[in-house]
Amino acid sequence: MAEEPKEAGQTTPGFQNPVAGFGVTFKAMFKKRLTEQYPEQKKTTAPRFHGRHQLNRHPDGLEKCVGCELCAWACPADAIYVEGADNTDEERYSPGERYGRVYQINYARCILCGLCIEACPTRALTMTNEFELADSSRANLIYTKEQLLAGLDDNMVDTPHAIYPGTDEQDYYRGLVTEAAPGTERQVAVSKGEKPEEQEVEA
Ligand code: SF4
Ligand code: SF4
Repeated sequence: MAEEPKEAGQTTPGFQNPVAGFGVTFKAMFKKRLTEQYPEQKKTTAPRFHGRHQLNRHPDGLEKCVGCELCAWACPADAIYVEGADNTDEERYSPGERYGRVYQINYARCILCGLCIEACPTRALTMTNEFELADSSRANLIYTKEQLLAGLDDNMVDTPHAIYPGTDEQDYYRGLVTEAAPGTERQVAVSKGEKPEEQEVEA
């Protein structure tokens, strides 16, 4: 009997097609199952996994972000919004002239590509291994500066507060400031609507 002619691009004769299709199923039956029991069992990510962003602090608690907007300009998804502002001696958030007053990342847009962290000149912006970012609300997917800012380690004081006495901005990047100066106190965040007496009551 003459063999059925093959169609262009066909690797098996036409009459074998139904059986060949089941062959894929048959082979899969003997392979190791890859089902992941998420969220009960969370998989460990690779060390350099691109997860949720973090705005980092200097060792005394001052913020590394200088509000330059380079991360926002580098972002291909237009997911970052930054507004910079001037520090003052009475209300200081970073060692230099400027700080990031408003900082938002929209995770409904972000594709976690990491171009923003490459663009950041101060290493203020890095990415964590946290990947559980799903939410049912668009508004909740816009993370604010307060959500992105790193927590306080030992020897840090929350911003705003004064620069370490006798140092300048460059000293922070030279690694000369390793902790908050003794007696450092949080200043009143007037730009956020705080009043001096309110801080005294909180304290
Ligand atoms: S990871 Fe990529 S998409 Fe997300 S904010 Fe940064 S640059 Fe934009
Ligand atoms: S995170 Fe970095 S690049 Fe973005 S505004 Fe702050 S200092 Fe500039």
